[in-house]
Amino acid sequence: MSDDPHLAGLAGTIVHDEIVPARAPWRHLVRAGETLRIVDTHGNQAVDFLLYAAADDAERYSAQDTIAAQANIFLREGTMLLSNEGRAMMTIAATSVDYHDTIGGACSCESNTLRYGHHTKAQHACVDNFLEANLRDGRGKRDMVSNINFFMNVPVEADGTLGIVDGISAPGLTVDLRADMDVIVVVSNCPQINNPCNGFDPTPVRMVVAA
Ligand SMILES: [Zn+2]
Repeated sequence: MSDDPHLAGLAGTIVHDEIVPARAPWRHLVRAGETLRIVDTHGNQAVDFLLYAAADDAERYSAQDTIAAQANIFLREGTMLLSNEGRAMMTIAATSVDYHDTIGGACSCESNTLRYGHHTKAQHACVDNFLEANLRDGRGKRDMVSNINFFMNVPVEADGTLGIVDGISAPGLTVDLRADMDVIVVVSNCPQINNPCNGFDPTPVRMVVAA
């Protein structure tokens, strides 16, 4: 057993362990039965996240199917991340953060200029990271779908109003995702510096896969 607190409670053998630098993309094949743990090493770091079926990447994560099936907009322990075919791709086996977002979307240069002004046009954004990671498998802009934002706090008011506010995550908090099929995980370690989703200071995250 390791005394690394980031690995506490993670069963099985570690088959991959990697630090994703601040602002960087990441892509990894996680096989059925394996568990991916994402560690928010510094706290309040949004991890933008997409899933594609390894067997056929036309099957991919569907926020709409996931929300409809559980009749709730927040992703919590026990949530099944469903595909556009209605099949479970991964399941949130455990998380030390209360809930995660799947409606806030991914930041882009275009949305940054609309929200924060034209001077932000050259800033790096999640859509750039998603494109870079996806291009390695031949996927392009048409393959980008609504994503998950792990560790991001997007509260929804009674009237339906959304916010992107201070995170509810903290240093060392985690989410464990058990793969229900072989999946390609595509991540953008969000580079956003114009709103509080990363505490205005993007930081590294850690990816650990246990088999
Ligand atoms: Zn972002």
